Amino acid sequence: MDEKIMQLKEMVSSSHRIVFFGGAGVSTESGIPDFRSEDGLYRQKYRYPPEVMLSHSFFVAHPEEFYRFYRDKILFDGVEPNIAHKKLAQWEKQGKLRTVITQNIDGLHQMAGSRDVVELHGSIHRNYCMHCKKTYTLEEVKNSPEVVPRCSCGGIIRPDVVLYEEGLDQNAIEKAVREIAEADVLIVGGTSLVVYPAAGLLQYYRGNKLVLVNKSPTGMDEQADLLITGKIGEVFSQLP
Ligand code: NAD
Repeated sequence: MDEKIMQLKEMVSSSHRIVFFGGAGVSTESGIPDFRSEDGLYRQKYRYPPEVMLSHSFFVAHPEEFYRFYRDKILFDGVEPNIAHKKLAQWEKQGKLRTVITQNIDGLHQMAGSRDVVELHGSIHRNYCMHCKKTYTLEEVKNSPEVVPRCSCGGIIRPDVVLYEEGLDQNAIEKAVREIAEADVLIVGGTSLVVYPAAGLLQYYRGNKLVLVNKSPTGMDEQADLLITGKIGEVFSQLP
């Protein structure tokens, strides 16, 4: 393990175009559960599976049930960025890292100070009325008196996140492809790499420094130039 950390240290030190691609595992050390770990949301029992409750058709048909689940399991109070988020923000400031591409919707990268962040699946921090498009903050949604937040026009407010059955933003995809294609080091961390099309974007990497940092095996382990099995916060805390 120590040797692998040394190798990663070396890559980070000599690089000026790191791109980071991450998922829910980046935020578990901040206290937000992921979907597929042992204590992740997919192992908990609900009336419907999470991918059903977080789908577009379920939201439209059962907004109240959607919001109960969403408030309970996706919106968390008092979460803070962890060392992985902070290290990435620091590398960006130092001119080493170009961009963070995340599947997360929690906004913790920006809270840590990252500026160039591609949010493939949107953000809980942006919300809008489905009828008149008026925008609302996360606080307004959290503090709404009813379970389903309503706009002043009466329309239902929804989070600007990509629900199952919905497409990704084209600009976000294009930027992610460009950055991945131009990266010298591509660090992939805290993601099971089973959610498409997000995971498919990694095929655009052309370099020979693909680093994978994950707690459990993924389908890309074989392709990694450097594979580190462990918690991303613990690994990143050892990096410059
Ligand atoms: P996932 O739940 O499918 O997989 C998480 C992966 O991270 C697993 O392989 C797990 O072993 C690993 N992991 C967990 N904790 C880790 C840690 N501390 N260090 C290293 N690895 C760790 O998550 P995914 O691949 O991102 O896909 C799930 C989808 O769910 C994404 O689209 C994402 O938008 C969404 N999601 C987001 C959040 C969030 O915003 N924080 C939370 C849950 C789910």
